[in-house]
Amino acid sequence: MGLLQEKLSKFRVPQMYMERGVYPYFREIDSAQDTEVMMDGKKVLMFGSNSYMGLTHDQRIIDAAIAATRKYGTGCAGSRLLNGTLDIHVELEKELAEFVGKDEALCFSTGFTVNEGVIPQLAGRGDYIICDDRDHASIVDGRRLSFATQLKYKHNDMDALEKELQKCEPDAIKLIVVDSVFSMEGDLANLPEIVRLKKKYNASIYVDEAHGLGVFGRQGRGVCDHFGVTEDIDLIMGTFSKSLASIGGFVAGDKDVINWLRHNARSYIFQASNTPAATAAAREAIHIFKTEPERQERLWKITNYSLKRFRESGFEIGETESPIIPLYVRDTDKTFEVTKLAFDEGVFINPVIPPACAPQDTLVRFALMATHTKEQVDFAIEKLIKCFKQLDILK
Ligand code: PMP
Repeated sequence: MGLLQEKLSKFRVPQMYMERGVYPYFREIDSAQDTEVMMDGKKVLMFGSNSYMGLTHDQRIIDAAIAATRKYGTGCAGSRLLNGTLDIHVELEKELAEFVGKDEALCFSTGFTVNEGVIPQLAGRGDYIICDDRDHASIVDGRRLSFATQLKYKHNDMDALEKELQKCEPDAIKLIVVDSVFSMEGDLANLPEIVRLKKKYNASIYVDEAHGLGVFGRQGRGVCDHFGVTEDIDLIMGTFSKSLASIGGFVAGDKDVINWLRHNARSYIFQASNTPAATAAAREAIHIFKTEPERQERLWKITNYSLKRFRESGFEIGETESPIIPLYVRDTDKTFEVTKLAFDEGVFINPVIPPACAPQDTLVRFALMATHTKEQVDFAIEKLIKCFKQLDILK
């Protein structure tokens, strides 16, 4: 056995949980990602999806993806810089810039590679990148690729952010990077206060709207729009893999900043461009956001109903203000066990353990779609009460 194999064969964690029958990952779904999915011949209620607007199986989006595939084929066989730019990429960029209220936008093949490619191009040697300690992994990877000094503050603690800003050289770029909606806990960044600090310390702000688009703001324009601070946010990024029912991502900002990124963000220049199908699907989703406000209203109605029911039933759900509802377990083994018990009762939820959260904060993540019915939520909550009680998580 080579050194590599010998070293990696010591990684026993998955086997340990597999032997106990509670390993919760890579579960196969053999249907569309809807409120109900088929798994191994069994119907399961899906409460683990990021498809907040419930559009992944919408006929109009499917038709748009098929039409684009027929016209442009299945792939672009090149990067945006060279032969991979289609007219629909450019049109989507214009639509996204207008949608989030910025001059211009760039579309990437995934949201992950937006953060990974853009963040290191915004702050370099002698500058600072300042992150919330719960920021998404793609932000962490993006900042690690930068030569800037890396600073972190305790989740949503504005005094801690101010202390970090005070450490910075006044003339250096100070880039504050935050998720608008924290993807595991469902709480919001305090953008109004971050904007106040930005102005006080002459900093810049980059907001990741992955979980904010579709859900918050006018017609789903995001949390920056919801707080009315779009103008004071320097860069807004988003992904197509959640409410937009596709795959891909974008960054939007001022003309000159976007022009710099267009020619310097490595995942924009050196990564093959997004597929015609995914691009057309995202365009159609934006169109639906704008023309069907009742969808966003339905999402909030079912979210508020679920929040109330979880609270009344005694679940610990933290500070969430979104369709992402964390059900705290605070024990890794029990988090896996309750995920398995719920699955056996026909409810799909996601376990969240370190590094996605702190060791004492393990939870299961219950997420809503605009298309969930009250009956589905009632069924799931009854089952979850039973499973949480069985493991003594809920008294
Ligand atoms: N940012 C956040 C906050 C996310 O939750 C995710 C995906 N989970 C990403 C970025 C990466 O986006 P994608 O998966 O669409 O590449």
